[in-house]
Amino acid sequence: MDEGVEYCLDLLREQAAVNTLLLSPYRYYGAMNRPLHLMGDHGVPLRDNAGRKLPMVWVRHRDSCFQDTRLRHAQPAADTEYAGREVFAELLPPLRRRGMKLHARIYEPGAGAAKHIANFDQVLTTTLEGKPGEKPCWNSPEYRAWVAGTMRDLFQNYELDGVQYGAERVSPLSQLLYGGKVPECFCPHCLARGRDQGIDAEQARRGFTELAEFLQGQLLDQPRPADGVLPTVLRVFLKYPAVLAWDYQWHVAGEEVNQLVRDAVKIARPGARVGRHVDHAQGSWDIVYRAAVTGADLAASCDYVKPILYHEILGPRIKGVWTERLRKTLLSELSQPQSLDLYYSLFGYDPELAPKLEELAELGLSPDYVYRETKRFVTILDGKAAVYSGIGIDIPKGSGWGTAVWRSDPERLDRAVRRSFEAGATGVVACREYEEHSLESLRVFGRAVREANT
Ligand SMILES: [Zn+2]
Repeated sequence: MDEGVEYCLDLLREQAAVNTLLLSPYRYYGAMNRPLHLMGDHGVPLRDNAGRKLPMVWVRHRDSCFQDTRLRHAQPAADTEYAGREVFAELLPPLRRRGMKLHARIYEPGAGAAKHIANFDQVLTTTLEGKPGEKPCWNSPEYRAWVAGTMRDLFQNYELDGVQYGAERVSPLSQLLYGGKVPECFCPHCLARGRDQGIDAEQARRGFTELAEFLQGQLLDQPRPADGVLPTVLRVFLKYPAVLAWDYQWHVAGEEVNQLVRDAVKIARPGARVGRHVDHAQGSWDIVYRAAVTGADLAASCDYVKPILYHEILGPRIKGVWTERLRKTLLSELSQPQSLDLYYSLFGYDPELAPKLEELAELGLSPDYVYRETKRFVTILDGKAAVYSGIGIDIPKGSGWGTAVWRSDPERLDRAVRRSFEAGATGVVACREYEEHSLESLRVFGRAVREANT
């Protein structure tokens, strides 16, 4: 809207070969207020988001769709810029005139959503220590009713062509292994689920406690145990097998939420396509997720999968997550180069084409990574769901959402797109956000898409 709808859609279609928008109608996720210096110049004067008051919700919701839950979307605030505008209703006619499609991009609300969504604090997870977590519990009936009501309302109200849904989360076990975070969820709904599944919640609690104490100690540089780190961790699983069963149920509950999204959308609008966002951690470094969620699981809840395959930013991410943090927990007996070699070997990347440790943060991974991961998703989905590779464009470096501009290398960006199609992708998604993309990168992306498909 800042750039002008007609101008922006023409640019996307003509320069970047975009035929479908994936558009988020909410700002709960917290990533939509990028600072001026990280925003791409699209030929229209940029506006500084600092100090702007913008709506939290860009659609209208009906109370009738939320009868089974106390949760309510944020109310429209009259004192915001663009107040009362309905982005889907407004965009559909100009998109249709251009033969373009519209999918809702629905993020799971992140930490801080409780400030905006009424009663969201009632559905948060409960940590091992009995404190509220930051994210919703997937076993909460009220949270599930809110998700289903949101989908039903959106797809009854607006002629959307599809949705792309996905929660950027890894399991309690992954969070512990990769960062020593206190496990969750032990809320009454999760305890009931454990009981139904015949899992001993007390055993799970004891095992998670022991594992948390050990790994958090390692992160604080406590001495390595005489038996070694891996046997110490394995001992917890042998003594308390309920830890693994508890963690698996966390994944199964997540799949159930995805199936609920699919069902709500398909009932409201049978022709709509349901997509699944598989985030960077889930796809590219979390071995627990890879073990727990199979291609068949993914295909059971969607028509297409968009794996996040950001080749450049994966370099600093792997450096931070794998060769630094994981080396403080599971891999403390390995050197940094050894841990990187292990990563390449375990995930099937060619070390000849992948960067050395000292190049990792500056160079990132190569388009070969995009090819291999696309091929893996095509293989595991086995024709039951399409793959749209999520191509990383101009993703900033630095902590959080990024702090410093990192413009994509044009040649590698071009190859990442082409290699996706060579690996069997049905399409590609220009990621992460349009506002980050430079015009030059959008043109490179668009040319590669067109040439790969002629
Ligand atoms: Zn729970």
